[in-house]
Amino acid sequence: MYDVNKVREDFPILAREIYGKPLVYLDNGATTQKPRQVVEAMVDEYYNVNANVHRGVHFLSQQATDLHEASRETVRRFINARSTSEIVFTRGTTESINLLAFTLGEAMVSEGDEVVVSAMEHHSNIVPWQMMCERKGARLRVIPMTDKGELQLDALESLLTERTRILCCTHVSNVLGTVNPVKDIVRTAHDRGIPVLIDGAQSVPHMPINVQELDCDFFAFSGHKVYGPTGVGVLYGKEEWLEKLPPYQGGGEMIKNVSFEKTTYNELPYKFEAGTPDYVATHALATALDYVTRLGMDNIEAYERELTRYAIEQMQQVDGMHIFGEPQERDAVISFQVGDIHHLDMGTLLDRLGIAVRTGHHCAEPLMRRLGIEGTARASFALYNTKQEIDVLVEGIERIRKMF
Ligand code: PLP
Repeated sequence: MYDVNKVREDFPILAREIYGKPLVYLDNGATTQKPRQVVEAMVDEYYNVNANVHRGVHFLSQQATDLHEASRETVRRFINARSTSEIVFTRGTTESINLLAFTLGEAMVSEGDEVVVSAMEHHSNIVPWQMMCERKGARLRVIPMTDKGELQLDALESLLTERTRILCCTHVSNVLGTVNPVKDIVRTAHDRGIPVLIDGAQSVPHMPINVQELDCDFFAFSGHKVYGPTGVGVLYGKEEWLEKLPPYQGGGEMIKNVSFEKTTYNELPYKFEAGTPDYVATHALATALDYVTRLGMDNIEAYERELTRYAIEQMQQVDGMHIFGEPQERDAVISFQVGDIHHLDMGTLLDRLGIAVRTGHHCAEPLMRRLGIEGTARASFALYNTKQEIDVLVEGIERIRKMF
């Protein structure tokens, strides 16, 4: 049994009041709150273990290194990668994608080549590719989307050509909540020998992830969206692909030998990890992954799907409610608009009631343009949200609607 009240006790911030109202935190797509266990792991490491990793023979350095490398193993297990060589620590999804776009661009993109992204990508899975295309004289092509907010996969056939160097697609849309059929997308791309990057920023917190089963070549996610700290994330890459790519940044850690004439590079995954890593954050990320694993990703997924189903049902009772997208499979994200109430007004007034939602373009301007809007209000759920909180949200929306 999933005991949400017990789970909530692990998150001290949920007891806060905002403008004298109990906090209802529904901005989890932007970042999640942290359980006590994660914060305590960071405090404990700074108080008792702190030393730079990989370089020292002394006790603390070895202990910090052990924690850091054990965290890599925790990540490996969590997404079921074959080997820890395939787990590169980064600062987050954005850095993971920039790393890949830069190195893949250097290794295998030339003038006239193409990169395929989807119509529902976050800017961080568009702009790094666009920058690389500009540098290399390559072209960005886009998988279109239906009015229901699903990718038009029949268009894939004609988009994937012998010039396509990579296909990049989000697992879950941070605006519409659409869960994309990434396994099918990967299969279609692989039939043509094209590698695939999955942006897992919005899927990792909500469902079990098995990169071997998805068979994607690369997978990126952020620690802070899955109850871990900010400033740490992961790029998973199949070993055979990572071996083909050059380093991203130069510096300590990523080298084997350095001379003024020539430098040789370290083995995977260190080749991509120049400089001192945020080893406290990697340990805290592993603590967060252990935390959700203990609760059970299947349980979390089932709980949140029911919460989302309930939220849609209740929100649809409000006059003038428009929920964006009608995907067959939707994760814990709902973008909405009520009548002609501006999303900024909606967000600001909900805030006065203690309810935190996100407003704006959600870093997906091309998707906003496709929907013919400037922005939305967005409620996104996490493992600690409750149906009572959704009732508070719906009452709040109703109150604001009447004000207008
Ligand atoms: N991709 C998606 C789908 C996202 O929702 C986000 C953040 O909202 C990102 C990428 C970027 O994540 P980060 O800012 O943690 O790098």
